[in-house]
Amino acid sequence: MTASDFQRRMIDEKASRLLDSGNVKFEGVFGRNARFRILPLTPKNHEHLVFLELDTGVYSCDCKFSSLHPDVECSQIISAKRIWAAMNVIQAQQKT
Ligand SMILES: [Zn+2]
Repeated sequence: MTASDFQRRMIDEKASRLLDSGNVKFEGVFGRNARFRILPLTPKNHEHLVFLELDTGVYSCDCKFSSLHPDVECSQIISAKRIWAAMNVIQAQQKT
């Protein structure tokens, strides 16, 4: 396993913890962006905002990790992606 595989797995596990703890909140669509608020797992950490640009499908996050590693999806983005995908599945089911 390479260092980046290991890093990716840690990020993935953190995203799962965020989702399991109900810390990922979809706040709505504002203009052409969907906004998610990601509450911290511990009081020592900060909450973060994730934006999904609906026209391009590009996610962005205001966390430090994201600014340092723009090429790697942070745990907040991964958790927001999963919530968004789950919401779209529910909407698709309601239409049928
Ligand atoms: Zn982030």
